[in-house]
Amino acid sequence: MAVFSRLICRRAASLRSFCTKSTDSDLHRASSALSSALPVDNSNGKGRNVQWVFLGCPGVGKGTYAARLSTLLGVPHIATGDLVRQELSSRGPLSPQLAEIVNQGQLISDEIIIDLLSKRLENALVKGETGFILDGFPRTVRQAEILEGVTDIDLVINLKLREEALIAKCLGRRICSECQGNYNVACIDIKAEDGNPRMYMPPLLPPPQCESKLITRADDTELVVKERLRVYNEMSRPVEDFYRSRGKLMEFDLPGGIPESWQKLLRALNLDDHEDTRTAAA
Ligand code: AMP
Repeated sequence: MAVFSRLICRRAASLRSFCTKSTDSDLHRASSALSSALPVDNSNGKGRNVQWVFLGCPGVGKGTYAARLSTLLGVPHIATGDLVRQELSSRGPLSPQLAEIVNQGQLISDEIIIDLLSKRLENALVKGETGFILDGFPRTVRQAEILEGVTDIDLVINLKLREEALIAKCLGRRICSECQGNYNVACIDIKAEDGNPRMYMPPLLPPPQCESKLITRADDTELVVKERLRVYNEMSRPVEDFYRSRGKLMEFDLPGGIPESWQKLLRALNLDDHEDTRTAAA
């Protein structure tokens, strides 16, 4: 119980600084929280569950492929964007200011996001879950440095898709307000041009029971998506270099829709003969 109230105080203190730049001591505190939320690992990466990261521009499909791989490999899929949206829907006193940052396509502070992630990892630890697939974290070099300071990342998958497809995918994204399922009403068909092959991505339509409950994310408007892409290039592109220089980055060009991309991804990860591949793809 004492641990629990310490955590709440820590979170409240950090949420107060959500819209300011984190100081070194704020970050030091957040990084210690992250470290204690992770299991002690003496295995040197051998024999433990995977610790992977998905990088890529908004709309590329990190959530889709991270969720499928997490089912396949039996590790939690942790999307920091989902953690932020949960925080917003809790409608705490600071939600309006957090919503303003998110809805303008900006990043929230490293300290806040690390606090939200620590809380999620603590839950995982309590449930006995090990390993993870992170989606949307790290998004700044500072976040990557802090993560590196507290645990080993085995692999970073950098998903890539042409920009016109990214924008269309964000604008077509719909979420079921009840089951939180992710769908897409866009039919993307980009002609072959300049040596690039034709790209066809059919819509991913919801089942009938979700049709009347679909909502659009407030940050999926054209203006905000363009700003999120700009912020990605400025703040998150350097994270690709961070992992590239450590030999951990796997570049992955999505060839099109889910069926062909999923099979190609499994081959790239040497998972195509994994016993549960068929179930995860269903
Ligand atoms: P996403 O669902 O990944 O597109 O994230 C939605 C929004 O949550 C982002 O546009 C940011 O405002 C915020 N967010 C998610 N992850 C991070 C992160 N690692 N660092 C800072 N802000 C984040």
